[in-house]
Amino acid sequence: MKRMNTWWQVWPTIRFLILIILISVSSFACVTAAEPEVEPAFDAKRSYEYLNKICRLKSRVSGSPGMAEQQKLISEHFRELKAKVHFQTFDAPHPINGTPVRMNNLIVSWYPEAKKRILLACHYDTRPFPDRDRFQPQGLFIGANDGASGVAFLMELGNVMRDLKISHGYGVDFVFFDGEELVYRENDAYFLGSNYFANQYKKEPRDFEYVYGILFDMIADKNLAIYMEKNSLKYAPRLTRSIWEAARKTGIREFISQEKYEIRDDHLPLNEIARIPTCDIIDFDYPAWHTTRDIPRNCSGASLAKVGTVLIYWLQNIP
Ligand SMILES: [Zn+2]
Repeated sequence: MKRMNTWWQVWPTIRFLILIILISVSSFACVTAAEPEVEPAFDAKRSYEYLNKICRLKSRVSGSPGMAEQQKLISEHFRELKAKVHFQTFDAPHPINGTPVRMNNLIVSWYPEAKKRILLACHYDTRPFPDRDRFQPQGLFIGANDGASGVAFLMELGNVMRDLKISHGYGVDFVFFDGEELVYRENDAYFLGSNYFANQYKKEPRDFEYVYGILFDMIADKNLAIYMEKNSLKYAPRLTRSIWEAARKTGIREFISQEKYEIRDDHLPLNEIARIPTCDIIDFDYPAWHTTRDIPRNCSGASLAKVGTVLIYWLQNIP
C-alpha cells in the first residue's frame, strides 16, 4: 500500500511554496505602489521659489504697480527660455469709478508655427481685498494660492517644455489672464481677460486652432485634493476624464475621480464663447480662500509638482 506523506515530510516543499508566494506578492506590491517615473521632472522646490517671488510683490491687482512688476518678471522668465512672449492689451472700465483700466493678457507661445495648439491658462491678477476675512476684510490680499499658484506652475513648466515630446506635434500657449477678479462688490464683472481673449479668438481671423484648454487655479494648497469640476465635465468630458486618467497612470491620488463643485471661472468664456473644450483644475477646498491667510505658508511646492507630473504625462499622451 502507498503510504500518505505526513506534513513534516512535505514541509520543505511547503516552505518553498510559501517563499515563492511571498516573493511574488511583495514584488507585485512594489510594482503597484511605485509611481511611474515621469520625465522630464517638475521641480517642486523651484516652483515654490517662484511662488514666493511672486508673493513678495504683494498685491497684483489689475493696473497696479505690483501687476506691472509681475508682468516684467514673467515676460523676462519666458524670454530667457526662448519662448515667444506677447501681450494682448485692452481697457476695461474700473468697477468703482468707470475710468479705464489697462488690461494685459500675457501670452507665451511654444512652437508658434504649429496650427493645432493646446491652451494652458491661469489668472495672474489678485483680488483687491480679502473680503471673506472675518477680521481684516480691507487688509492686504496676497493670493498665494488664488493667483500666484497658477503663475508659479506655468513658470516651472516652462523650464521643461523643450524636453517634452508633445503628442501629435501640437503647439502650446501659456495664457495669463488679467482681470479675473477686479471685483469690489457682489455684482462686479469677473473674467474680463478671458472674456476678451475668447471674443478675439472667435471673431479675429486666425490660421490656428486650440484643440483643448486647461485652466489652473488654486493648485498649491498644502492639503491638495482636486475633484472633477462640473462645468468641465459638461463642456469637456473627454478632456477632463483624460486628465484624471493621466493622474491614475502616474499614481497621483490627489486627483479624485469624482465630481464635486460647479465653479464659475475663466474656463466658462473659453468653453461658451471660444468653444475651446476647457477643463478647470482647481482645489476648491481651501479655508484661506479670499482671506489674509492665502499666503505661501499655506501652499506647497510638492502640490504644484503633483499637478506638474500629471500634466507632463498628459502632454505626452494627449488623446
Ligand atoms: Zn479668487
